Amino acid sequence: MTPLQSSGQVGKAIAPFGELAFKPDIRPDVLFRLTGKLQSTLELPLLIEIFFKNIQSSVSVDGISYRVRERQIVVSQGRTSAHSVNYELSTHGDKVGELIFFRSSRFPEYELANIEGLLSTLLHPLRNALLYQEALDASFRDSLTGAGNRVALDRTLDREIELSRRHEQQLSLLMLDLDNFKSINDQHGHSSGDAVLKETVRAITDCMRQTDLCFRYGGEEFLILLSNASQADALIVADRIRETISKLLIPATQTTTMTATASIGCASLTVSDSRQSLIHRADLALYTAKNRGRNCVVGEATLSQGLMKEKRQ
Ligand code: GH3
Ligand code: MG
Ligand code: MG
Repeated sequence: MTPLQSSGQVGKAIAPFGELAFKPDIRPDVLFRLTGKLQSTLELPLLIEIFFKNIQSSVSVDGISYRVRERQIVVSQGRTSAHSVNYELSTHGDKVGELIFFRSSRFPEYELANIEGLLSTLLHPLRNALLYQEALDASFRDSLTGAGNRVALDRTLDREIELSRRHEQQLSLLMLDLDNFKSINDQHGHSSGDAVLKETVRAITDCMRQTDLCFRYGGEEFLILLSNASQADALIVADRIRETISKLLIPATQTTTMTATASIGCASLTVSDSRQSLIHRADLALYTAKNRGRNCVVGEATLSQGLMKEKRQ
């Protein structure tokens, strides 16, 4: 565990407990009870909440924030304050994220020692929770491209439709299919085709907002869920995605590259839509895009009035 900064200064690296000027001064029964509580869950948010609540009797802090940068995980409890101390956590050589403690007053050395004593109870549960989270994430992801899989889509789409209705927000769906993908496979081989699929998802992700979601719907078909986006907004994003894909130069061999294009159909949620009917209309629009010659985007003219207008009827 390495504190990065304390009270606004760059902190010194803290050596293992044996070399600390101050040793943790926490009753063994407190540590024992905390360890038991932390082992009761694999859910990260709950784990951080249990830790935050149960350390207060030993070290009073205003808030804590747990982060794993590479995995875009941020879990916070309490509030931020003027002074902070950061720890980079690792156990058995595995990095398990960063934990920041916040408080309005400085952390003296003896309290840092206590914090480190408390942290020692968190490391293993944290590692287990991260592994659990990873397994959970993997079961919702397409292993080739990293896009959400069909299971994730089924779960997410119903929830997003529900949320859009509740908050009276628009929701749009893009269905994207790579053009003549079979001939890419035929010409360059299946693994090159796989590379095109991966680059396609990267291009889609680059064009969408963080709150948007991309799913692999079939072999070379993807669904992109744009929350809080009207048909007009969605058509702009769709065309950006189409253009970005058309400009990709994907290595096929060390000296040659491949190009790809995509057709995209766009549908926006209506009051009467179900998950199936929304997907169906995006599929119809995609079919029209293919018939119009591919490498193009087709929306639904009938839906240009949008969800809000329908709600007023
Ligand atoms: P269109 O423009 O009409 O969509 O033509 P297409 O060739 O893209 O469509 P078609 O349905 O004829 O072919 C899709 C191809 O996608 C056939 C299949 O072998 C290939 N495919 C599906 N999944 C994968 C995959 O995971 N990796 C690779 N490399 N190819 C795949
Ligand atoms: Mg295709
Ligand atoms: Mg297809």
